[in-house]
Amino acid sequence: MPLQELLRPDQILPSEPLKNHTSFRIGGPADLLVLPENAKELAEVLECLQSGKERFMVIGNGSNLLFSDLGFRGTVIKIAKNMSLASHQGVFLEASAGISLAALAAKALSLGLTGLEFASGIPGTLGGAIFMNAGAYGGEMKDVVAEASVITPDGARSLNASDLKFGYRHSALSDSGDIVASAKLKLAPGDKEEISRKMDDLNSRRRDKQPLDLPSAGSTFKRPEGHFAGKLIMDAGLRGFSCGGAQVSQKHCGFVVNKGGASAKDVLELIKRVQDEVEKQFGVFLETEIKIVPEK
Ligand SMILES: Cc1cc2nc3c(=O)[nH]c(=O)nc-3n(C[C@H](O)[C@H](O)[C@H](O)COP(=O)(O)OP(=O)(O)OC[C@H]3O[C@@H](n4cnc5c(N)ncnc54)[C@H](O)[C@@H]3O)c2cc1C
Repeated sequence: MPLQELLRPDQILPSEPLKNHTSFRIGGPADLLVLPENAKELAEVLECLQSGKERFMVIGNGSNLLFSDLGFRGTVIKIAKNMSLASHQGVFLEASAGISLAALAAKALSLGLTGLEFASGIPGTLGGAIFMNAGAYGGEMKDVVAEASVITPDGARSLNASDLKFGYRHSALSDSGDIVASAKLKLAPGDKEEISRKMDDLNSRRRDKQPLDLPSAGSTFKRPEGHFAGKLIMDAGLRGFSCGGAQVSQKHCGFVVNKGGASAKDVLELIKRVQDEVEKQFGVFLETEIKIVPEK
């Protein structure tokens, strides 16, 4: 069935600028961007694209992505606010993949459930965070995910935490291509005031350390074993180093920021210069944490 028969016209956006869907504010147009509103629509959209052998990719809040200046040839399926219902039963919190971690953490707080405090300031969705095994301040998604409902080319399946094979900023989903439709988290009963204090504390530490006033995709590089990417970059003398509109943040050298009008080309050039200089000076290769998405 064609997409036009599966979704309303306002759920299908042709030639949609991806810079409007990424925290970097970078990216040319996608041929199509579609906004399914529930797991059934998502499954139908995927079936339609797969049967037509069309190129597609899924995004959440686009907070870990660098799209090309030429955009994306194919269809981008966005799973964010458009798919964000949540419910709970005892210590289990279940939600659609597009809910933001901030909203989910706020829900946990309102229910007096502890375990998601680490995630309240990460600007991703539940699906993107499971894909990446997002983490901060000693917590990671792997600590709280009990089950994920995914859509595979062979239909819907439920994966438990061990099926998801969580590692550092990695899960089995990056190899399988399975798409998270919803997930169930296991939290623990806690004290609302304590949970709230912890969230406030972590968020103020984030505001102190991170350049939240400028568009970015978070930490540009993974943490190399035995080192911190930001410190290596700072020690290499690259604080504030720029290529076009892309800059090594003055506030936190582990972040590349868009100081205004940066292109993907600027960011890629800056990443390469940083990698080369750090490798030359310290013999450490900095692998990117952000996902670089080619035009085709
Ligand atoms: C200011 C800032 C601070 C940040 N701080 C942190 C931090 O402390 N810790 C941390 O880990 N990250 C951090 N990040 C990075 C980012 O927020 C996380 O990686 C987050 O998990 C990405 O979620 P997203 O929904 O934005 O995913 P996207 O960026 O949209 O996508 C990331 C990957 O996930 C895949 N994906 C998205 N949704 C789904 C789905 N439903 N099913 C299957 N795959 C999916 C995409 O295909 C893509 O490969 C930060 C980013 C910013 C801008």
